[in-house]
Amino acid sequence: MLSEKLMEMLNEQIRFEMESAHYYMAMAAYCDSEDLPGFGHFFKVQADEERFHSMKFYNFVNDMDGRVIVGQLNEPKNDYKSLLEVFETALQHEKKVTMRIYNLMDLAQQEREHATISMLHWFIDEQVEEENTMKEIITKIKRLGENSHGLYMLDDQLGQRVFTPPVGE
Ligand code: MG
Repeated sequence: MLSEKLMEMLNEQIRFEMESAHYYMAMAAYCDSEDLPGFGHFFKVQADEERFHSMKFYNFVNDMDGRVIVGQLNEPKNDYKSLLEVFETALQHEKKVTMRIYNLMDLAQQEREHATISMLHWFIDEQVEEENTMKEIITKIKRLGENSHGLYMLDDQLGQRVFTPPVGE
């Protein structure tokens, strides 16, 4: 049985992952408006991943006989000046997610809530990947500079991204 405090934090995480999807849709919209459909696609897939994260927490709370409460989403940032700004914002956002997961893990460990600890391990590994994906693209964008050929090659590459939920989920 989950404590009130842990259930509250898990519900906040369900909300925050959905809000992340919302943020990434705004980034997709910016990229599409700049005629970079591959980048747009990349962020739509990222939004799919965030919805999947949210549902993973949702299902966990239900499995633990907790009560899911669906919260309100804040309006995402829609105005960007450059692709670099988009990805730097995405990286900062992922760092916030990581901190939230760490705080959840701290509480689960304090409460010795082993099922929650086990579930959170997956997210800790996932966050390393999430931050790394954004960092790699930031490096590529910085190296491209004004090279528009390179930009379209990267757009093509990001357009290939496919969302595959992990097996058994
Ligand atoms: Mg996430």
